[in-house]
Amino acid sequence: MSNTSAAPRQENRTPEVEVLISADRIAARVRELGAEISRDYRHRSLRLVGVLKGAFVFLADLLRAMDHPDLTLDFLGVATYGSGSQTSGEVRVTKDLDQSIEGLDVLVVEDILDTGVTFHYLTTALRNRKPASLQTVTLLDKPSRRIRPVQADYVGFSIPDAFVVGYGLDFAQRYRELPYIGVLKT
Ligand code: 5GP
Repeated sequence: MSNTSAAPRQENRTPEVEVLISADRIAARVRELGAEISRDYRHRSLRLVGVLKGAFVFLADLLRAMDHPDLTLDFLGVATYGSGSQTSGEVRVTKDLDQSIEGLDVLVVEDILDTGVTFHYLTTALRNRKPASLQTVTLLDKPSRRIRPVQADYVGFSIPDAFVVGYGLDFAQRYRELPYIGVLKT
Protein backbone atom coordinates (compact mmCIF):
# COMPACT_ATOMS: atom_id res chain seq x y z
CA MET A 1 0.00 0.00 0.00
CA SER A 2 1.29 3.44 -0.84
CA ASN A 3 2.03 6.01 1.84
CA THR A 4 -0.58 8.77 1.48
CA SER A 5 0.59 11.02 4.31
CA ALA A 6 1.99 14.44 3.29
CA ALA A 7 5.75 14.65 2.88
CA PRO A 8 7.50 16.68 5.58
CA ARG A 9 8.41 20.21 4.53
CA GLN A 10 12.12 20.28 3.94
CA GLU A 11 13.72 23.65 4.45
CA ASN A 12 17.00 22.82 2.76
CA ARG A 13 16.03 20.98 -0.39
CA THR A 14 18.81 22.43 -2.44
CA PRO A 15 22.29 23.45 -1.29
CA GLU A 16 22.46 26.43 -3.69
CA VAL A 17 19.62 28.19 -1.89
CA GLU A 18 19.67 29.62 1.62
CA VAL A 19 16.24 29.89 3.28
CA LEU A 20 15.13 33.48 3.90
CA ILE A 21 11.43 32.99 4.69
CA SER A 22 10.23 29.53 5.72
CA ALA A 23 7.11 27.85 4.33
CA ASP A 24 5.42 28.19 7.74
CA ARG A 25 6.06 31.94 7.94
CA ILE A 26 4.74 32.39 4.41
CA ALA A 27 1.60 30.39 5.22
CA ALA A 28 0.92 32.46 8.36
CA ARG A 29 1.38 35.78 6.54
CA VAL A 30 -0.74 34.68 3.56
CA ARG A 31 -3.55 33.76 5.97
CA GLU A 32 -3.34 37.26 7.51
CA LEU A 33 -3.38 38.93 4.10
CA GLY A 34 -6.35 36.81 2.99
CA ALA A 35 -8.33 37.81 6.07
CA GLU A 36 -7.43 41.50 5.74
CA ILE A 37 -8.29 41.71 2.04
CA SER A 38 -11.55 39.78 2.55
CA ARG A 39 -12.51 42.25 5.27
CA ASP A 40 -11.61 45.32 3.20
CA TYR A 41 -13.60 44.11 0.17
CA ARG A 42 -16.49 42.49 2.07
CA HIS A 43 -19.15 44.76 0.46
CA ARG A 44 -17.73 44.63 -3.06
CA SER A 45 -17.25 42.06 -5.82
CA LEU A 46 -13.57 41.50 -6.38
CA ARG A 47 -11.57 40.57 -9.48
CA LEU A 48 -8.15 39.20 -8.64
CA VAL A 49 -5.56 39.60 -11.41
CA GLY A 50 -2.57 37.31 -10.97
CA VAL A 51 0.66 38.36 -12.65
CA LEU A 52 2.32 35.37 -14.31
CA LYS A 53 4.45 33.58 -13.92
CA GLY A 54 5.96 34.42 -10.54
CA ALA A 55 2.73 35.10 -8.61
CA PHE A 56 0.94 31.83 -9.40
CA VAL A 57 1.84 30.05 -6.15
CA PHE A 58 1.09 33.08 -3.96
CA LEU A 59 -2.19 33.66 -5.78
CA ALA A 60 -3.28 30.05 -5.32
CA ASP A 61 -2.65 30.23 -1.57
CA LEU A 62 -4.05 33.76 -1.14
CA LEU A 63 -7.25 32.81 -2.93
CA ARG A 64 -7.81 29.91 -0.55
CA ALA A 65 -7.05 32.09 2.46
CA MET A 66 -9.88 34.42 1.50
CA ASP A 67 -13.39 34.30 2.78
CA HIS A 68 -15.30 36.40 0.27
CA PRO A 69 -18.66 35.69 -1.42
CA ASP A 70 -17.95 37.21 -4.83
CA LEU A 71 -14.45 36.60 -6.16
CA THR A 72 -13.40 36.18 -9.77
CA LEU A 73 -9.99 35.57 -11.25
CA ASP A 74 -7.96 36.49 -14.32
CA PHE A 75 -4.28 36.37 -15.28
CA LEU A 76 -1.88 38.72 -16.95
CA GLY A 77 1.51 37.52 -18.16
CA VAL A 78 4.55 39.79 -18.10
CA ALA A 79 8.27 39.22 -18.46
CA THR A 80 10.89 41.63 -17.22
CA TYR A 81 13.96 39.52 -16.64
CA GLY A 82 15.56 37.48 -19.40
CA SER A 83 17.21 34.37 -18.11
CA GLY A 84 19.36 35.95 -15.43
CA SER A 85 18.94 38.05 -12.30
CA GLN A 86 19.52 41.53 -13.76
CA THR A 87 16.51 43.49 -14.91
CA SER A 88 16.50 44.68 -18.52
CA GLY A 89 14.11 47.47 -17.58
CA GLU A 90 11.90 46.29 -20.40
CA VAL A 91 8.41 44.96 -19.73
CA ARG A 92 6.88 42.54 -22.19
CA VAL A 93 3.24 41.41 -21.99
CA THR A 94 3.17 37.67 -22.68
CA LYS A 95 -0.54 37.14 -21.95
CA ASP A 96 -3.35 39.69 -21.82
CA LEU A 97 -6.41 39.51 -19.55
CA ASP A 98 -9.20 37.27 -20.84
CA GLN A 99 -11.96 39.63 -19.69
CA SER A 100 -12.61 43.36 -19.42
CA ILE A 101 -12.05 44.98 -16.02
CA GLU A 102 -14.08 48.10 -16.81
CA GLY A 103 -16.19 49.10 -13.78
CA LEU A 104 -14.75 46.34 -11.57
CA ASP A 105 -12.88 46.47 -8.27
CA VAL A 106 -9.53 44.93 -9.14
CA LEU A 107 -6.72 43.64 -6.97
CA VAL A 108 -3.47 42.92 -8.81
CA VAL A 109 -1.51 40.05 -7.23
CA GLU A 110 2.26 40.37 -7.69
CA ASP A 111 5.15 38.18 -6.55
CA ILE A 112 7.75 40.86 -5.89
CA LEU A 113 8.09 44.62 -6.14
CA ASP A 114 11.70 45.50 -6.94
CA THR A 115 12.62 48.57 -9.02
CA GLY A 116 8.91 49.26 -9.52
CA VAL A 117 9.24 49.41 -13.33
CA THR A 118 6.91 46.44 -13.94
CA PHE A 119 4.47 47.58 -11.29
CA HIS A 120 4.30 51.10 -12.73
CA TYR A 121 3.82 49.78 -16.25
CA LEU A 122 1.10 47.34 -15.21
CA THR A 123 -0.90 49.65 -12.98
CA THR A 124 -0.81 52.42 -15.61
CA ALA A 125 -1.96 50.03 -18.35
CA LEU A 126 -4.73 48.56 -16.15
CA ARG A 127 -5.98 51.98 -14.96
CA ASN A 128 -6.43 52.95 -18.63
CA ARG A 129 -9.02 50.17 -18.83
CA LYS A 130 -11.23 52.05 -16.36
CA PRO A 131 -11.73 49.69 -13.40
CA ALA A 132 -13.91 51.08 -10.56
CA SER A 133 -10.83 50.72 -8.33
CA LEU A 134 -7.38 49.22 -8.61
CA GLN A 135 -5.27 48.03 -5.68
CA THR A 136 -2.22 45.82 -5.46
CA VAL A 137 -0.85 43.12 -3.22
CA THR A 138 2.71 41.88 -3.42
CA LEU A 139 4.15 38.99 -1.46
CA LEU A 140 7.63 40.55 -1.35
CA ASP A 141 8.88 44.11 -1.43
CA LYS A 142 12.48 45.27 -1.95
CA PRO A 143 12.05 49.00 -1.18
CA SER A 144 15.78 49.76 -1.37
CA ARG A 145 15.85 49.04 -5.13
CA ARG A 146 13.11 51.41 -6.25
CA ILE A 147 13.54 53.44 -9.45
CA ARG A 148 9.83 54.33 -9.68
CA PRO A 149 8.18 55.82 -6.54
CA VAL A 150 5.46 53.15 -6.26
CA GLN A 151 4.01 51.28 -3.29
CA ALA A 152 1.73 48.26 -3.00
CA ASP A 153 -1.46 48.52 -0.92
CA TYR A 154 -0.75 45.17 0.78
CA VAL A 155 2.74 43.73 1.36
CA GLY A 156 3.59 40.27 2.64
CA PHE A 157 7.25 40.79 3.57
CA SER A 158 9.75 43.58 3.13
CA ILE A 159 13.12 42.02 2.24
CA PRO A 160 16.69 43.26 1.75
CA ASP A 161 18.34 43.64 -1.63
CA ALA A 162 19.02 40.04 -2.61
CA PHE A 163 17.91 37.91 -5.53
CA VAL A 164 15.33 35.48 -4.19
CA VAL A 165 13.81 32.29 -5.56
CA GLY A 166 11.15 29.77 -4.57
CA TYR A 167 7.40 29.87 -3.90
CA GLY A 168 6.82 30.63 -7.60
CA LEU A 169 9.89 32.82 -8.14
CA ASP A 170 12.55 31.60 -10.54
CA PHE A 171 16.12 31.96 -11.63
CA ALA A 172 16.31 31.00 -15.33
CA GLN A 173 12.94 29.24 -14.87
CA ARG A 174 14.27 27.07 -12.03
CA TYR A 175 13.46 26.85 -8.30
CA ARG A 176 9.77 27.83 -8.61
CA GLU A 177 8.77 24.61 -6.81
CA LEU A 178 10.58 25.39 -3.53
CA PRO A 179 8.01 25.84 -0.72
CA TYR A 180 10.05 28.63 0.88
CA ILE A 181 11.67 31.88 -0.25
CA GLY A 182 15.44 31.58 -0.48
CA VAL A 183 18.48 33.51 -1.57
CA LEU A 184 20.64 32.05 -4.32
CA LYS A 185 24.19 31.52 -3.10
CA THR A 186 26.07 32.39 -6.26
P1 5GP B 1 10.64 45.36 -11.09
O1 5GP B 1 10.07 45.77 -12.39
O2 5GP B 1 9.90 45.87 -9.89
O3 5GP B 1 12.11 45.67 -11.01
O4 5GP B 1 10.66 43.80 -11.04
C1 5GP B 1 9.54 43.06 -10.92
C2 5GP B 1 9.74 41.69 -11.50
O5 5GP B 1 11.13 41.33 -11.59
C3 5GP B 1 9.09 40.69 -10.61
O6 5GP B 1 7.73 40.50 -10.95
C4 5GP B 1 9.95 39.47 -10.82
O7 5GP B 1 9.50 38.75 -11.93
C5 5GP B 1 11.33 40.02 -11.12
N1 5GP B 1 12.18 40.09 -9.92
C6 5GP B 1 12.58 41.18 -9.24
N2 5GP B 1 13.34 40.84 -8.18
C7 5GP B 1 13.42 39.50 -8.20
C8 5GP B 1 14.05 38.54 -7.33
O8 5GP B 1 14.71 38.83 -6.32
N3 5GP B 1 13.89 37.24 -7.70
C9 5GP B 1 13.19 36.83 -8.78
N4 5GP B 1 13.11 35.54 -9.01
N5 5GP B 1 12.57 37.71 -9.59
C10 5GP B 1 12.69 39.02 -9.32
